[in-house]
Amino acid sequence: MPNLPDYDSPAALKAFLEERGFGMQKKFGQNFLVNRAVRERLVDALKVEHGSTVWEIGPGLGSMTDEILRRRARLTAFEIDRGFAEALRGFFSGNDGFTLVEGDVLKTWKPQWDSAGAPDRLFGNLPYNIAATVIGDTIESGARFDRVVVTVQKEVALRMAAKPATEHYSSFSVLCQWAYEVEPLMDIAAGSFWPVPGVVSRAVAMTKRDVWPNCANPATFAKVLRALFSSRRKTVRNNLSAWLRSSGRAAPGTDVDRLTEDILSSAGIDPGERAERLAVKDFRSLSDRVDERAGRA
Ligand code: SAM
Repeated sequence: MPNLPDYDSPAALKAFLEERGFGMQKKFGQNFLVNRAVRERLVDALKVEHGSTVWEIGPGLGSMTDEILRRRARLTAFEIDRGFAEALRGFFSGNDGFTLVEGDVLKTWKPQWDSAGAPDRLFGNLPYNIAATVIGDTIESGARFDRVVVTVQKEVALRMAAKPATEHYSSFSVLCQWAYEVEPLMDIAAGSFWPVPGVVSRAVAMTKRDVWPNCANPATFAKVLRALFSSRRKTVRNNLSAWLRSSGRAAPGTDVDRLTEDILSSAGIDPGERAERLAVKDFRSLSDRVDERAGRA
């Protein structure tokens, strides 16, 4: 294997990039984690075992990739930056446990899942601009991992773990906690990255729930969830009835107000409540009552 750069030295990383004519692209949220102790803690938290199959999103120049491969996992890395992809091939293509998928992970992960099968771990020091989208997309597509460890902007981490009726609770909180047990791991100071980002990062671990989706139709769950949070100030009654009308779930001629009251009362939910006060189990129950009582779109 060719010599890896010194992943803890911003000067060495800068020189490596300059020699090859590669630049850092802000639009791709490129900040390298230049703190070995933190990298090791993150991979420890992933609980990689010999033969684990790991997906890594945004490997950059491969500092985490190297740490994970050392633990004898099989790793598939998703990287959008052409220069980084070239460097990664140079470093790791001799390792038969390494696969590189080049391109935008938001477009490449699904075909990879379908063709290569489900891995058991997901890891990523995620680019800020796509972190919530990629986590949300996998869950909504029914793709879950036994264990996930991601580093995200602290604000996103707060949303992932937030409880009902608290400041950061959102549809994204419900989505994450529906699929996984969410556990904040540690804050990572901006100074542990190069270039130094303008935000604090937080690492979060997620463990797959044994029983899932625990409702009849996950697609309905996701739609009802989005509908109920669509106007945060509106009551669940107003958001649900608007969605029943616009989605075609209420057949023409249906008394939608009555249908809404009926669905909410059978789910045991106060129609005057706001979505931000409902728990995951309420959304599951609501999803099932919608499927029972409203027509298919
Ligand atoms: N893993 C490295 C580390 O921890 O030092 C780099 C992490 S850096 C925060 C994010 C990485 O994600 C960069 O390598 C960037 O090029 C890559 N990236 C950004 N957007 C991406 C996308 N849509 N698909 C795949 N990779 C992406």
